[in-house]
Amino acid sequence: MRPPVSASPIKRISIEAGCISCQLCQDIAPAVFQVDEGADCVVKPDAAGHFGPLREDIEQAARDCPVEVIKIEQG
Ligand code: SF4
Repeated sequence: MRPPVSASPIKRISIEAGCISCQLCQDIAPAVFQVDEGADCVVKPDAAGHFGPLREDIEQAARDCPVEVIKIEQG
């Protein structure tokens, strides 16, 4: 049997240096990530309210980010 997936809620998401503005994360979770043309990705100011409901999308974005700069902190 597989162990249960960690249920710790997402506390914080940060973007480390090195974003290449590919917009993939924004395509996956536009309520959380904003990537303006040519600018580094930012986590939207009101994103925290979506951390729970969009957890799977957020984790997918972090996994799929080509330069792995999306960091998820669980509490
Ligand atoms: S997926 Fe990664 S590299 Fe692409 S915009 Fe988002 S943070 Fe930047």
